[in-house]
Amino acid sequence: MRMAWPELKSAVAMCRDCALHARRTNTVFGVGDEEAEWVFVGEGPGADEDALGDPFVGQAGKLLDNMLAAIQLKRGHNVYICNVVKCRPPGNRNPEPEEMQKCGPFLQRQIELIGPKLIIALGRIAAQNLLARDASIASLRGRVHEYKGVPLIVTYHPAYLLRNLPDKAKALEDLCFAVATMQRLQSGTIDPT
Ligand code: SF4
Repeated sequence: MRMAWPELKSAVAMCRDCALHARRTNTVFGVGDEEAEWVFVGEGPGADEDALGDPFVGQAGKLLDNMLAAIQLKRGHNVYICNVVKCRPPGNRNPEPEEMQKCGPFLQRQIELIGPKLIIALGRIAAQNLLARDASIASLRGRVHEYKGVPLIVTYHPAYLLRNLPDKAKALEDLCFAVATMQRLQSGTIDPT
């Protein structure tokens, strides 16, 4: 896939490559700075996102904004936010492997076009998909992984944190680790891959 931004956005808007197209209200492409150093990737749109066509709105979106603020980041400023699948899985179920596989080239091209320094995978489904590994969040946290040559760090999904408040402290640890990693990437003291 070698599309530029306009073609890529149009292809997603018209896509019917998997069953998720049938019940969507809107595709949810992604939002933010298209030259961002930070890319945050969740698993898929929920009801609010499907209604509005934007990722991470509603309560989980507010928590993500608060998480960004905790590390002096702001949606749209050096930050891009998107999901593994661009259409809402019915009933907020997890995306099926086939759906993620069909939608994967869109995400891959988004990340190629952005060229971020660091990806943050939000939650188990996004992490497992991006890393092509069946592993727990606990086993993936606290280390720098890689997606197509881009360093990647794993933390909890904001929607999970809303249901499991004690794990917010662990998410903050992950974000502090991400900031330290970004500083090392910016200064060239670690190899990006
Ligand atoms: Fe196409 Fe992705 Fe939507 Fe499936 S989820 S219909 S592959 S845009």
